Order: sequence, then structure tokens, then C-alpha cells
Amino acid sequence: MTHLSNQQLASATERLARKMLGHWPTPLTELPRLSEELGIRVLMKRDDCSGFYFGGNKTRHNEFLIGDAISSGCDCVVWGAEIQSNNCRQTAAACSRFGLDCYLYLSPGHHRLDVNGNLLLHYLAGARVEIVDARIGPELDELLVEKGRALQAAGRRPYFWDRSRVIPRAAVSYALCLAETLEQCEAKTARPSAVYVSSAGSTGAGLALGKAALGFEGSIRNVCPMAWPWDVREDLARSATIAARAIGLPIEVRPGDIEADESQVGVYGRPTAAGQEAMKLLMRTEAILLDPVYSAKAMAGLLADARNGKIPSGSTVVFVHTGGTPVVFSLAPEMLASFTGSGT
Ligand SMILES: *Cc1c(COP(=O)(O)O)cnc(C)c1O
Repeated sequence: MTHLSNQQLASATERLARKMLGHWPTPLTELPRLSEELGIRVLMKRDDCSGFYFGGNKTRHNEFLIGDAISSGCDCVVWGAEIQSNNCRQTAAACSRFGLDCYLYLSPGHHRLDVNGNLLLHYLAGARVEIVDARIGPELDELLVEKGRALQAAGRRPYFWDRSRVIPRAAVSYALCLAETLEQCEAKTARPSAVYVSSAGSTGAGLALGKAALGFEGSIRNVCPMAWPWDVREDLARSATIAARAIGLPIEVRPGDIEADESQVGVYGRPTAAGQEAMKLLMRTEAILLDPVYSAKAMAGLLADARNGKIPSGSTVVFVHTGGTPVVFSLAPEMLASFTGSGT
């Protein structure tokens, strides 16, 4: 297939329903002090500044998911993840914005149960929250289907979490994000050799789709925040291919096209030492707050690659800040200890 222009990609996505939530484009900013420290040029795509309810990558995802829910005639959304989920925070707010009821089923994972950070924000957005025992992944997915069926039986029209429907639609939003980012790079005469992002799901699948559709020659480095019970490369390639089909593009992404760095995983939902070091460095050099669960670990992946020469000195890379900052409030003692070196 010949490559698409940004405009052609945008037109292809018009066959999917969409409801606008964010302020686009998000800024692409230089990180001069970090760049100097690393001997490379680092640009940051500020998707943490998406402009909707504390921001993050789920703003882009939700434009297509809420669009899908509304155009399918749904009157409520059944969603779930762990208690401090950024996804659920954004979903709750998007539901509120369009007058849908939002039912959240949240797994404690390794989080504290006190109402703080994203858990507080779920309530403030008006979600009906239930804390459940099911673990994030296949077990919780099954529970969400059950809850959705029960609502159907009660006469409601729920839109519920279904991997095969949700992930490709969310992915399309990140193909568009890559187009937006490359246009901003061009305006800065920056030619990135790599894009770094925290993902083991829709975001990375979407960037892979964007890369194939637009003919971007740099690499997309997915720094995984968690270990799934399946092969991430296969999963992202499959999602990207299904997403391509959903917007009418004859693109097949193969597992070998996907780069996944699983060296930063740690315990899902918990900070890691390398992530905390990255978080502190970004704060000290650029006054930018990363989140301990996702973007800090992705930045740790970038730092490791810069230091071990995988990113050649003098080259340009883009880091996508995917948001998630409200989580710091739920991890106050850990954050304080790693930033100030003191216990509480
Ligand atoms: C959800 C999330 C990610 C990862 O998204 P994928 O669905 O794996 O693409 C990364 N960063 C933040 C802050 C998130 O909330």
C-alpha cells in the first residue's frame, strides 16, 4: 500500500463514530535540560495536557469509545480496572459529559483502599463505584460481561468493556496522534528516530497502525507497564490490523513490526526504583510530573536506551506523556520517600 497523508488518514477514521472531549493538538515541547543531560534531543508529546479531567491517553481513546456507545444507542457504560485506574477516571467523566450512567467495577490490586487520587475523582465524576475481588485481566473482563448482561436483563442498554470491540477503536485515536506529532515535528525540523510510550495495549497498537499507514521510518518503543498473560507483540499487531480494517485500510501489522520493552515492568500499579529515578530527573530538569505507574517507567526505558547507546547520541526522540498524574496522591508516602529520601 502507498502511504497515506495525514489528511487521508483522518478521512479514513471518519467512518467511525466520535465525540470530541480533548483540546487538540496537545503541545509538543522541547526538553532542553534533559536533552543536554542525555546528549540527545528529547521532545515530549504532552498528552497529559489533553484538557479533559486531568488528561491522559484515555481522552483520545474515549472520543471513539463514547462515540461508539452513543451511536449504538447505549444509555450507560460498564467499565472496570484497578481502583486507581486513569482509564476509569476518564470514562466516568466522559459519561458525565454526555449524560450516560457509568458503572465502575474496580479491583484493589496493590492499591490502598482510601478514597484518594483517581478513586476520589471517579466518585466526583458521578460514577457508581463497586470494589470487587476479581483481578484485572481475563477475570475482571468476565465479570464486566456478567454485569453488562444483568443490566440488559433489567432493560438497560449498556456499552460494556469488550476487548475485541474496544481496543481497535481506541487504537485508531493513536494513529491520529502519531500524525499530529509528526506534523509538529516537521514544523520544528525534527526527524525523530524513535517514539517512546508506556503501553501494552491500544496506544501502542494505534501508533503501530499510524507508523504503517503514514510510512514513519522511526521505531515505536512500547515500554510495558505490566505483564499480560499473552504475547504483547502478537496482541498489539493483531489489534493494529483489526483497527486498520475498521477504518478501511488494507494494512497488516505483524508481531515482528512491534517493539516491546518488558524490562521496566515491576509490580503493576507500584513504583519501581528506575521509574522513581526517572520521575525525579524530569522534575529536577523540566518541572514535569510523570506518573509512577506508567510514564515514569517508560521514561526509565528511554533513559536506559540513551545511556547504553541504543539511542545514538545527537539523535532525536519523542516521548509521549500519557498522563496518570493523579495517582501520586494515592502513593503520597512512597512519592515523598523517593523524592526527598525520607520516610514518613
Ligand atoms: C492506560 C495508560 C497507559 C497504557 O495504555 P495502553 O492501553 O496500554 O495503551 C499508559 N499511561 C497511562 C498514564 C495510562 O493511564
